Amino acid sequence: MKRIGLLTSGGDAPGMNAAIRAVVRTAIYYGMEVYGIERGYAGLMTEELYKMEMRSVSNIVQCGGTKLRTARCMEMLTKEGQKKAVETIKKYGIEGLVVIGGDGSFRGARVLSEEYGIPTIGIPGTIDNDLEYTDYTLGFDTAVNTCLDIINKLRDTMTSHERICVVEVMGRHCGDIALYSGIASGAEIIVVPEIRFDLEEIVTKINRSRASGKHSNIIVVAEGVTSADQFAKNLQSVTTFSVRPTCIGHVQRGGSPSMADRMLAAQFGNKAVRLLKDGIGNRAVGIRDNKIIDMDIIEAVSMKKTFNLELYETLQMISM
Ligand code: ATP
Repeated sequence: MKRIGLLTSGGDAPGMNAAIRAVVRTAIYYGMEVYGIERGYAGLMTEELYKMEMRSVSNIVQCGGTKLRTARCMEMLTKEGQKKAVETIKKYGIEGLVVIGGDGSFRGARVLSEEYGIPTIGIPGTIDNDLEYTDYTLGFDTAVNTCLDIINKLRDTMTSHERICVVEVMGRHCGDIALYSGIASGAEIIVVPEIRFDLEEIVTKINRSRASGKHSNIIVVAEGVTSADQFAKNLQSVTTFSVRPTCIGHVQRGGSPSMADRMLAAQFGNKAVRLLKDGIGNRAVGIRDNKIIDMDIIEAVSMKKTFNLELYETLQMISM
């Protein structure tokens, strides 16, 4: 394979730039050319792509966001759009493609691979950690670290005023950001889409913690359940402690990637290109039990995400 394409698609995630760098540098190492496609699949519709060089990816390993920008491209969901994408790929002599994005982006990659014979590799780039086939997605670790930084600060002020803080984190339908940031910040309670919650039980837990000498409480709520505002309102109506909502919001999607995300990016990007070099497509790369793996892309997106109940129970035991 002499020329490959590269795009970032769907929601952005810290570490995407580091993955872009790894793809470009690995491809150049093997004597391949890389075309960077702008704004995800949209760049294939509008023919916005350019040849990337060794120095095109200098000084981006530490940057959040994505140099190639990203978009959601509705045209790619239609047959005409898909044909247009393939036309552009063929016109530029691109023989294989690396797609960095979430499950939606992977579905686009599958179409190109299976229906049009363009070998495509998916790199899981999303802060949500909502893909079952990989233990971690690119950006998740950095997003959780951002939440931790904010929750630590909230704890200071909540303790001074003896308040309860309801902190809303991202993750869409997946509770992993709430679970990990809840455990790592010492939050007393997490509320996730995977587990039913009971407001009365939450109030009982808060009262117990206050009776044991605690001066503040942190409740991490996943956006897939409800908003911090709504949850705080409901809670305030059944407790005399003062409740404050905070929605962390889009800061979770930005920032310099953590060591863990940069390491994932380097390994995912490298693996993706090595697969293409060997003529292998229709695969998703991931990490399982600390080993970089690849598997059929459609199998990867069809696996139902499971929730780590053991970690959830750990939180119940150590946060009070
Ligand atoms: P995130 O998890 O951050 O939201 P994502 O990749 O899942 O990322 P989506 O908006 O679901 O984000 O998908 C990104 C893009 O992938 C879509 O805008 C569309 O261009 C393409 N895409 C999604 N689903 C399909 C599909 N079934 N067939 C072809 N292309 C698709």
